[in-house]
Amino acid sequence: MTTYRKDGINPLLISIITKKDLSEIPQSPPPPMLPGVYVRQVRKNLSNTGESVPERKHELTCTACGKRGQYNLGTIVVDMEKFLKRNDSFDSVWNKAFQCTGYFRCRHCNSAGNWQLSKQTLLFLNITVMTHAMTGMKQDEVVIGKTGTYDGKTFRWASEAEEHHLRKLNEDPDNAWIWNRLGNLYLNGGRPDLAVAAFEESIKHDPGQMESHFSLGQILLKAGLKEAAASHLRRVLITAYKYDRLKRSDLRDMLTETLFTLLDILEGMTNLVEFLPKADEILPDCLESGAPDKTVTLNFREIDIRLDKFEGMYPLAELYMNLNYKKPASDVKSIYPQQQNSGRFTQKKKKKAKKKRKKR
Ligand SMILES: [Zn+2]
Repeated sequence: MTTYRKDGINPLLISIITKKDLSEIPQSPPPPMLPGVYVRQVRKNLSNTGESVPERKHELTCTACGKRGQYNLGTIVVDMEKFLKRNDSFDSVWNKAFQCTGYFRCRHCNSAGNWQLSKQTLLFLNITVMTHAMTGMKQDEVVIGKTGTYDGKTFRWASEAEEHHLRKLNEDPDNAWIWNRLGNLYLNGGRPDLAVAAFEESIKHDPGQMESHFSLGQILLKAGLKEAAASHLRRVLITAYKYDRLKRSDLRDMLTETLFTLLDILEGMTNLVEFLPKADEILPDCLESGAPDKTVTLNFREIDIRLDKFEGMYPLAELYMNLNYKKPASDVKSIYPQQQNSGRFTQKKKKKAKKKRKKR
């Protein structure tokens, strides 16, 4: 018997987290089966397919059970190079050129990845992409390009990319980095409940996984769990010192975003300074790693912070970075040029932060 479920969960995800054999997990697991400290509350307070995902509902047919339904494709990505290969058949072109970020499973049989796009959707996509090709004008409905996983693989459906991550985690369940990537995939797919489960798992295996603390903090805040959010955002500041997965400029932007978010949660600079981790919390860890202790003198009162612009928080953010340990430089400016942006992610964040500051 099949059960109708609006928000399906991959049984393999539950199997890996709970360490139970896959045969013990139902084919269509009910939501309470997914473990996690905040999963239930996030599911309750934050509707899935929230604001982080554009609403692009299209009709799909599940080829596993034959039932049709409307599913949110999220961001639709089209690979122009593959699209323009006109010697391929129409269907084959779309099979190769189309990708979407929305995460969904069949509401009837919980299978995923066996989808057929409707004729109307294909026609709609065709017109949109041709318009883009002929006029060069950006179309809101699709993004031209390619989206791939951290290890360079490309997949058509988010659920296929998920399966790829889960297979890796099945072999290596303690890999906090892959759990983090999986969390991002769920978040971009419009499933904050699954994202929280993955980020929590990531931190469980590596409490120093800074990006997972950051994302968890942001989701918890949106779900109205301010205290829990602040606690994870504080961990961002503590763990940044040893974190080496991000470019320095991206690390600084993430710390800056964290500080502004904490400033909002704590309602003011005085409370923020009280709340900030001090050197003694960061230092023992850093000494273990062999860093010279002079690099972690945190002196809040003597630094010049401006709250009217994103960059104004940089001096405080930089206190939490390991400035001298790995890359000694006499001139700090040479490591931190006055760059205006560092990738799409931070540009968007900065704009948001600037807008926020203006409102103040
Ligand atoms: Zn189905």
